[in-house]
Amino acid sequence: SYEHLFSPITLRNTTLKNRVMMGSMHVGLEGEDNGMEKLIAFYVRRAKENVGLIVTGGAAVSPEGSGGENFMSIAEEEDIERWTPLTKAVHDAGGKIALQLFHAGRYAYKSMNGTDPVAPSPIKSPINPDEPKEMNVHDVYRTIQTFADSAKRAKHAGFDAVEIMGSEGYLINQFISPVTNKRTDQWGGTFENRIHFPLAISRLVREYVGQHFPVIFRMSGLDLIKDSTTDEETLLLAQQLESSGIDLLNIGIGWHESKVPTISMKVPRNHFTDIAANIKDYVSIPVVASNRINQIEDAEKILAEGKADMISMARPFLADPEILTKAKERREDEINTCIACNQACLDHVFESKSASCIVNPEAGRELIFTIEKAEQKKNILVIGAGPAGLEAARVAALRGHHVTIADKRSHIGGQFNYSRIVPGKSEFNETIRYYKKQLEKLKVDTVCNTSINVDHPLVEEADEIITATGIIPREPDIPGLKENNVLTYQDVFEETASVTGTVAIIGGGGIACDLASFLYEKGHSEITLFQRSTTFGRGIGRTTRWATLLDLKKKGIHMVGGVTYKKITAKGLHISLDDQEEWIEADTIITASGQLPNPSLYHALSEKGKEVHMIGGASKALGLNAEVAIYDGTMIGRSI
Ligand code: SF4
Repeated sequence: SYEHLFSPITLRNTTLKNRVMMGSMHVGLEGEDNGMEKLIAFYVRRAKENVGLIVTGGAAVSPEGSGGENFMSIAEEEDIERWTPLTKAVHDAGGKIALQLFHAGRYAYKSMNGTDPVAPSPIKSPINPDEPKEMNVHDVYRTIQTFADSAKRAKHAGFDAVEIMGSEGYLINQFISPVTNKRTDQWGGTFENRIHFPLAISRLVREYVGQHFPVIFRMSGLDLIKDSTTDEETLLLAQQLESSGIDLLNIGIGWHESKVPTISMKVPRNHFTDIAANIKDYVSIPVVASNRINQIEDAEKILAEGKADMISMARPFLADPEILTKAKERREDEINTCIACNQACLDHVFESKSASCIVNPEAGRELIFTIEKAEQKKNILVIGAGPAGLEAARVAALRGHHVTIADKRSHIGGQFNYSRIVPGKSEFNETIRYYKKQLEKLKVDTVCNTSINVDHPLVEEADEIITATGIIPREPDIPGLKENNVLTYQDVFEETASVTGTVAIIGGGGIACDLASFLYEKGHSEITLFQRSTTFGRGIGRTTRWATLLDLKKKGIHMVGGVTYKKITAKGLHISLDDQEEWIEADTIITASGQLPNPSLYHALSEKGKEVHMIGGASKALGLNAEVAIYDGTMIGRSI
């Protein structure tokens, strides 16, 4: 019954209705046309669904501290008026909202802010080309003041609390860590001097907001940076923050430049919870656990075991704004789970696009993606139960159509069935479970083990047909490709052929990397990826590609780029590399070198005169990924 999760918690004069906080996320809607309206719609959608406390994206306390274009700001008096409609809308929807006070420090970009980034010491971050300017003592005092002024503005704008951003390697964290703070004045050197900055901010913020207003501090529980703050110092900092007037400690993990994944799918669920639990033992104020908590049952368990007082979930609210409502109503199997892929949220932000979610394209598009009942109820046939077809079927059924979805395989999920068996990607099971439940709930007829051709009776019965027949693997043009020792990646993932001995994979993109990892897990130790280009992992998003390649290297999987293929024989692969010809002995050669669209059924149905649409890989293979496929599905489902 989630009794711990749904028990209220009081911070100063404010009572939150439950223990779940929607963690801060930069969604980037602010900079778009109608940005404020879109942002309000985004937060209201979630406020209506039982979130205990929403924390906004980081709002810059000063122009040089901004995270970039389209980031929120609270640096000016006129920002009070700008944010008031947001707080009012969230309150009207029954929610509570805190503003996050943010300063990027050396993570800020000169090109975006027009000013040099500033930091405790002039040490460049490995993920930013701009060297920061060292803050002088006047800058330090001025910045502390900007946090306090901003907190006061947030209170006037109607926010229910503020969260001081002191983790993830941003300015405050840069002052705390000996790696980034090399100052010799009272703001650097000893640990006491390094924490002087966060404590001065916390005290002045408290003074400016008064005794009744909750102040949250997001502190780093673990920097994951060599020679940074020690565990002991972290515990001392937590105690000092409590004494400086902080009401709630939200525990962050890792810096943006950490070489250890902290929120990707590869990180086991709830992996960092004990860090928060440890801090909780040292303070008497409540503590929030975060990072890779995506299951409501796990959240309840963490609270029940006393490891934390609140749970912060961020991306799970992109994937499903109704996660808490569904939990409350015991409809957990209907939850659209965040699979921690980062593909449409963080990767978008790094590309300066607004955030959405691969499994929920409605996220960030709340104003336009409403479900309207169809004017005329039709019989819709969806051919192909991969991600594109499943989403099309779901949305068409929600709009009142009678929908049948057919697939030649024995199960739904399409290529997600490959992903889900790759080590570290089992979260894809959740998306398949979600769609299975949705089809059931929406009474979509699901017909598996059925190949549809133009003469199939289902085609006759359909008013409109959506072909979502997916892709076909591209066959590279190499003599000898028809040798018995050559398989496609589909053969391997579907286990329709056996892989033996030394393995050569032709291809180095996302699928080839997944394949290598899958085979390694199956016990194959001699695996090499070959490709023409020298960049491996193409197509994998920026936030996860580095970890994928690092993982393959750790597993001893070789990657050879810049290769020209000559021929394949029963003994292996003949290549040329740096103008030298080489024989690569391989017992099994697997092609994973791209995909081609599969539009043949669409054309045949069109010729027959049927009203037919084509989505996902059936229409385009280039640039196709799960995000594009599901987006296509949602669009067609909304338009028919
Ligand atoms: Fe989660 Fe992926 Fe959606 Fe981001 S895009 S919210 S990581 S499912």
